[in-house]
Amino acid sequence: MIGYWDRELRSRFANDAYVGWIGRTPEQIRGLHMRDVVGEEAFRENQSYLAGVLAGKQQLFGQTIVNASGQTRQAQISYMPDVQDGQVQGFFVMVTDITDRVLAERREHRDASRYRALASSIPSVFVLLFDADLRYIIAEGQELAAFGHAPAELEGRTIHEVLSPELAAELEPRYRAALAGEEVGWTRKIGQRTFSLTARPVDAADGISAGMVVAVDITDRLQRERTWAALHEIATAVARSAAPLDISVRVAAILQRLFAVDSAAVVRFTGSRSADIVAMAPRLPAEVDRVQTFAPGDTSAAATVAFTGKPAIVAYEPGRGPVGEQLFAGGFRAGAAAPIRVHGELWGAIVLTSRARDGVSGSMLDRLAEFAELVEIAIGNTEAWEMLEHKASTDALTGLLNRRAFESRLARELEAADTSGAPLSLVVLDIDSFKKVNDSFGHPAGDEVLIEVASRLRDTSRKGEVLARLGGEEFVWMLPGTGGEDAVQAAERARRSISTAPFPGIGALTISAGVCELADAGKAHLMDRADQALYRAKQYGRNSTVRYRDGT
Ligand code: GH3
Ligand code: MG
Ligand code: MG
Repeated sequence: MIGYWDRELRSRFANDAYVGWIGRTPEQIRGLHMRDVVGEEAFRENQSYLAGVLAGKQQLFGQTIVNASGQTRQAQISYMPDVQDGQVQGFFVMVTDITDRVLAERREHRDASRYRALASSIPSVFVLLFDADLRYIIAEGQELAAFGHAPAELEGRTIHEVLSPELAAELEPRYRAALAGEEVGWTRKIGQRTFSLTARPVDAADGISAGMVVAVDITDRLQRERTWAALHEIATAVARSAAPLDISVRVAAILQRLFAVDSAAVVRFTGSRSADIVAMAPRLPAEVDRVQTFAPGDTSAAATVAFTGKPAIVAYEPGRGPVGEQLFAGGFRAGAAAPIRVHGELWGAIVLTSRARDGVSGSMLDRLAEFAELVEIAIGNTEAWEMLEHKASTDALTGLLNRRAFESRLARELEAADTSGAPLSLVVLDIDSFKKVNDSFGHPAGDEVLIEVASRLRDTSRKGEVLARLGGEEFVWMLPGTGGEDAVQAAERARRSISTAPFPGIGALTISAGVCELADAGKAHLMDRADQALYRAKQYGRNSTVRYRDGT
């Protein structure tokens, strides 16, 4: 809208756009005074600008104007003096409707503050808003520091101006896809943290296209997921009935991986001031003893847990107790440990050690303590399982293996003998006339005899050999790697160990033995043939040893 007013403030000229603003045609207002055209109020508001322009100075100002249709519009108004021969003859008025631009700016400002509020109120989130030139309009969120960029440094600059060429090249297609209306997601490690990022278009009704990146720090979530995966691994091992040692080895390896520390260990307390390093990953340094004795005031992480029963974080340096000193000599500078309680008792600790002084943190200790609670369950279950397994496979009276456990051991050893070709022999032993012991001295006395016989057999047997009570007063003795001849010698030693020393309160007893070598019977008949030989020994008058041979 353009108009011209003379120095008396009368309209000389106006274009058609004036109609839209004041509802009158240029012809209708020609010659009218400005006061009569715009109204008394607006005229008074413009006094200073009018004075300015009549003094020869250009005026530029914004004004809210209600137009002829009653709409409130934002106008930018300029008065340009018309100077001829040093005299102001009149002035031009230019009114530009900037309503849309002002609204867009306001919306942008409002959106911007909303994004800023979002990013600054949610920890571990940052937000980037960029325009069609890939210029950051907004960069907000503390996590941006992980990028190594201050928000102020990003805002107003394009990605090519502020980011490394590699990063800008990586981001550009994603930003452009967002500007084209797509949503793009990706994950990126920035320093020690992992972020999940999404680029998406921003609602652009006014035609200004923009994109937004929301980045969420998912490091903790990933750590939790990894923790659960690790626990799953441990639980699987427990379900497969691995021994506590196996579980400990696994736990140490998992801890080292999970916490990315130089080493991790499972320590078992064996007394109030002593402990065994049950497992360490990757390995126990030569400077550190597997069996540890804590001195009073020892400040190793495990010792602190032993003394206090609480999670501990420590620094290793000389003069802080013998164990701490060993760890220092082993190259460690910091440690963290959390207690493992099994059935309410302080069982031991899981320990992280680092070669860096700041290699373990308080937040790591919190996670370690959480992890310890779950390791407790694993170890508790494993120990309970081992106890059950032990009960199920042991003869309660003598402590020897029972028949069931013996049969599975025998099957394993027969497999091994099959592959190695090594000899294997079996000796079956039976107390002679045991019925008389019970009859003369009572059942409890008979039990005592069974215990004593088992003990003498145990003393006679050697490492790697397996003894079991098959039932009643019958025992079996497996000798892997031993041929028939040597097995007969062994059976004779056992027989003499019974017959040469009387049983307290009962007197002399004897046993009979049947021997069979695997090569003489084959896997399927080994037990039968040994029994057969025992039967012969009984037939021959007891207190003797018979070896099974083909047909004899
Ligand atoms: P033989 O010389 O022929 O072997 O005669 P024996 O008396 O030793 O054999 P027999 O099989 O006739 O008797 C075995 C006895 O062992 C019968 C049974 O009461 C007794 N017995 C079996 N189990 C136990 C046990 O757990 N404790 C006690 N005290 N006696 C048992
Ligand atoms: Mg008997
Ligand atoms: Mg018998």
